[in-house]
Amino acid sequence: RKLGVALVGLGYYSKNLLAPALQQTQHCRLAGIVTGTPAKAEEWKQKYNISQANVYDYKTFDRIIDNKDIDVVYVVLPNNMHREFVVRAAQAGKHVICEKPMAITVADCQAMIDACKKANRQLAIGYRLHYEPFTQEVMRLGQQKVFGPVKFIESSDGFRSGDPNQWRLKKAMAGGGPLMDVGIYAVQGARYVTGEEPISVTAQFSPKTDPQKFKEVEETMFWQFRFPSGAVSNSTTSYASGVERLYASCQDGWFELSPAFGYGPLKGRTSKGPIEKPVVNHQAAHMDGVCKDLIDGKKLPDHITGEEGLRDVRLLQAIYRAAETGRTIDLKA
Ligand code: NAD
Repeated sequence: RKLGVALVGLGYYSKNLLAPALQQTQHCRLAGIVTGTPAKAEEWKQKYNISQANVYDYKTFDRIIDNKDIDVVYVVLPNNMHREFVVRAAQAGKHVICEKPMAITVADCQAMIDACKKANRQLAIGYRLHYEPFTQEVMRLGQQKVFGPVKFIESSDGFRSGDPNQWRLKKAMAGGGPLMDVGIYAVQGARYVTGEEPISVTAQFSPKTDPQKFKEVEETMFWQFRFPSGAVSNSTTSYASGVERLYASCQDGWFELSPAFGYGPLKGRTSKGPIEKPVVNHQAAHMDGVCKDLIDGKKLPDHITGEEGLRDVRLLQAIYRAAETGRTIDLKA
């Protein structure tokens, strides 16, 4: 049987990536929607043949507890709203997928984990790359030391942000700037190539070239992690210009993905030649991977759970602290 998924928030990612992917999935299907905009509800009902009984707004959402058609709630709202809707979904007895970054504070992440645990429901984060074959290959190359120990990593993700009025530029909603939005991929990249947790971080803000637009959040920033093995990583994230690269220099060679974090196709090479892997739909692979485990009653793999989301949010906060204080932040404590 296919699990029924309800998308909460019908913005860019739901409309252009998740809903189309749910037409290709084997273990789940688009069963419901939660939206504050009646016109969107009408459009989606027709386009995806969703019954009125499976349409909610933000006020009626809690009634989803009585809906047997919906097994999984997928929260695709601005970052500061993730906590509330994950908690409400768990209280309604649903498994939850929550987009990245999991939340804007560590306390919010913990509350979300606790709510899911209390309701005996599983919580997955939208870490689609963990189901993506090129990414899985660089995890293998790094973690199994195929080219010897990893010495240094360049892991960066950024893009030129458009609309100056979007929530991504509002600190209260986004939790920060490009670091929260896409820098998180660069953090993940360094962590999954080494398979280690960083022990310290230094970071720097770049001067703002558009102080008006970036009044509340950083425009570009840099950070450096040290890992227990001695590996180091250097990262850039930005809303001023594009960068998307994950490069690892190892004792006996190197490997890289570029592009490394977007919707694909990703492209990879090593010092021995190109990386050849199947190209998949990231969102379909992610939702199928999560839903297959839910159907089989398995515990979700640690690296896509709320605990992993919390680890990243803790690191993002440490990066900000390092940049604000100019100090090396010890992450072991
Ligand atoms: P978006 O702005 O396009 O959509 C946000 C949705 O939330 C809209 O439908 C909007 O109507 C709704 N909303 C409800 N209350 C709102 C409020 N008070 N202010 C603004 N919007 C409100 O954003 P998006 O790009 O779809 O991002 C949503 C989430 O998905 C974010 O957490 C983002 O980080 C994540 N995301 C993840 C990926 C990925 O590759 N995993 C890609 C894009 C976005």
